[in-house]
Amino acid sequence: MNPKFFIKTFGCQMNVADTERMSALLSELGMLPADHLEDAQVIIINGCSVREKASHKAVSILGGLQELKQDGRGPIIGMGGCVGQLDKETLFKRAPFLDFVFGTDTIDNLPEILHRVKNGERRVLFTDFDPSMDYSTETKVFGAKAQAFVNIMKGCDKYCTYCIVPYTRGREKSRTISEVVDDIARLVASGVREVTLLGQNVNSFGKGNPNASAREPRELHNVIGKVGPKDGEENFPQLLRAIDSDSRCAELKRIRFTSSHPLDFSEELIDCYASPERGGVSRLSPNLHLPVQSGSNAVLQKMGRHHKIETYVEQMDRLRQVCPDVSISSDLIVGFPTETAQDFEDTLALCERVQFDSIYAFAYSPRPGTRASKMQDDVPNTVKNERLNQLLQHQMKIAEKRYASRIGKEMEMLVEGESKNQKVAGGKSGKVWTGRTGCNRVVNFFSENPMDFTGRFVNVKIVAASGLSLQGELVTGDATGDIK
Ligand code: SF4
Repeated sequence: MNPKFFIKTFGCQMNVADTERMSALLSELGMLPADHLEDAQVIIINGCSVREKASHKAVSILGGLQELKQDGRGPIIGMGGCVGQLDKETLFKRAPFLDFVFGTDTIDNLPEILHRVKNGERRVLFTDFDPSMDYSTETKVFGAKAQAFVNIMKGCDKYCTYCIVPYTRGREKSRTISEVVDDIARLVASGVREVTLLGQNVNSFGKGNPNASAREPRELHNVIGKVGPKDGEENFPQLLRAIDSDSRCAELKRIRFTSSHPLDFSEELIDCYASPERGGVSRLSPNLHLPVQSGSNAVLQKMGRHHKIETYVEQMDRLRQVCPDVSISSDLIVGFPTETAQDFEDTLALCERVQFDSIYAFAYSPRPGTRASKMQDDVPNTVKNERLNQLLQHQMKIAEKRYASRIGKEMEMLVEGESKNQKVAGGKSGKVWTGRTGCNRVVNFFSENPMDFTGRFVNVKIVAASGLSLQGELVTGDATGDIK
């Protein structure tokens, strides 16, 4: 019988992509995924360090695993992700039964790590960063999938004062455009139809890689001047255009990306959102996640963000001019040190002005090891929580209006699977399916058709909306099985 593995993932899409890679590596060793942790011979916690709470969660799970390791037997247990990268050998002190710790740069060493543990080595530690500035890899997809995460760069050189990522993911380095395009062409040949290009700051993609093919645009600009990689280096708009124009990627339907920093969000990237007739990138999804973090310039300065609210608003206005249907989401932190009531009002005003489709908002908590953790955490927790609730309610009203504006429209969606949240009304047979539109809105629809819609593109007519999702009726495929 094949041995089984179980991976518990915390955190961002980078960690989700890393879990996918670990799963593919383990399946190459003949292992199968376990539905339940108790059935696995290898258990990996892919931990997130971005907030202290998330880090604690990952480590506290370890406590519950101890009983599986009675008498030194039981599954092989490892900790990875940013928690492994940051906490390294201290994790062995906190959980002496832990078999291995690995980091964000050593995922590909997983087969070797397991081999060493199986051969009796104890407390295997693999957390070194690859010191080379080159970054070369091949995307591994676990099972047949229509969607794939493609790492195009890693690391971050921005050093925002509250963020631990530059310490857990290292300095920025990028794959070459030709390598990424070849990788995506291979994924498309295997059935992938949507790729999400991943990096901590994709706007810095290409820094240090010579633009040997003289691709355009050669330089990137925004209102503050030249941004991103220099003339003579590769850059992100070049990559989008290279994927879009490669005949091997003709069957690719969507290109998404995350995440970006407003400082070097460029005019040339905005141009990629235009319609193909106006020189845009035809497969680029009309969706942008651009973290702004606060609506107050004073707070942004304390956060070390090096961008201004006025330029952010200008960028979003320009983007909506070029692509009126674009959906925009953002990250916001409330209660950062020194944030006044007026600063918070400015954040509410920014949401009103930009009309985000969705936000990911958090109450600030200091992350040890960051510069902000040395600032006085002077906004009381009660105030932070009040502001967070107020912000979320404010945003919900905006989102409800924006989502409701889609009612009556026909939209294409990629079905991701059966809805876990929505149930079929009593007495009906069939299933509720869920997926996303090109503009990244969640749509649920009901179908009596017994076929598995997962991984298929279908057209739905939007019949209802909340501030979180849309309700659709299937237009193509239901009666005939003719799925687009
Ligand atoms: S841009 Fe700032 S918040 Fe984003 S990963 Fe880099 S340091 Fe962290």
